[in-house]
Amino acid sequence: MTTLLLSHQICVRHEMPGSPESPARLEAIEQALQSEQFSSLQREDCPQARKDHIALAHGGDYIDAICDLTPEKGYFAIDGDTTLCPHSYEAAMKAAGGAVRAVDAVMSGEVNNAFCAVRPPGHHATKHQAMGFCLFNNAAIAALHARKQHGAERLAVIDFDVHHGNGTQDIFWDEPDMFYGSTHQMPLYPGTGAVSETGAGNIVNTPLKSGADGAKIKEAFNDRLLPALFDFSPDLIVISAGFDAHIDDPLAGLRLTTQDFRWLTLKLAEFADNHCDGRVVSLLEGGYDLRALGDCVATHVDVLLDAGL
Ligand SMILES: [Zn+2]
Repeated sequence: MTTLLLSHQICVRHEMPGSPESPARLEAIEQALQSEQFSSLQREDCPQARKDHIALAHGGDYIDAICDLTPEKGYFAIDGDTTLCPHSYEAAMKAAGGAVRAVDAVMSGEVNNAFCAVRPPGHHATKHQAMGFCLFNNAAIAALHARKQHGAERLAVIDFDVHHGNGTQDIFWDEPDMFYGSTHQMPLYPGTGAVSETGAGNIVNTPLKSGADGAKIKEAFNDRLLPALFDFSPDLIVISAGFDAHIDDPLAGLRLTTQDFRWLTLKLAEFADNHCDGRVVSLLEGGYDLRALGDCVATHVDVLLDAGL
């Protein structure tokens, strides 16, 4: 079995003027995954999500609103960070569709694990609000689809993006069978993610101070996130894989190296191997230094490929 890599050209055509969340991010990833070591990846184009997939995390009215707000020409600004261009709705439908396909392939045993190189990212999108570059919450949709379609009972999203995934937390808030565990810089956008935010006892936030390095995030994983994940006992791990905690990232102040992201991925892959038959679906979130992003994704996917051998 191998690793499934999902992406789509339309995800490159979604663009927000002046934003670090740019098409060049996916081009950097595409280039980084060209090398021979990735020749055994099973590469597919993301299918389109169905509306009922997205409605698992957002109301039907919300989906229609994003569609209606998408301009035929020019741009529509939802907020200071989040802008729609004519390709945005379709890109978001393909990004969510990739997440759904990844879950189907992993849960059916067709592949060992999967990575979705998609944008727009998702973890800031709440039930009712697009924000922070995010339109549809791909990670929440993946987890909720695994429950609805595949009979998985306990789903975990682990989010190591430098920003707190307020959207995933919002969608899972009253769902004791959906676990959300996050490491993130605090204070930082979007302002949520305090230790005291615990939902139905299913949310574990481990905020880190600006300047924290790999040792601090390893401590957070070893002391808090992994033990909580063990207690929760998930059937599938969804990773909100943001790489903006990298020391070179321009948007935040954590100091992780590419090797630290290798460690995080290894720990999660090992956990999945021991506790949920290796089932991991990883979804791209942030990461804005193009070179660091390419290196980190290559490292992340390399570990996922090894885990599937
Ligand atoms: Zn981020």
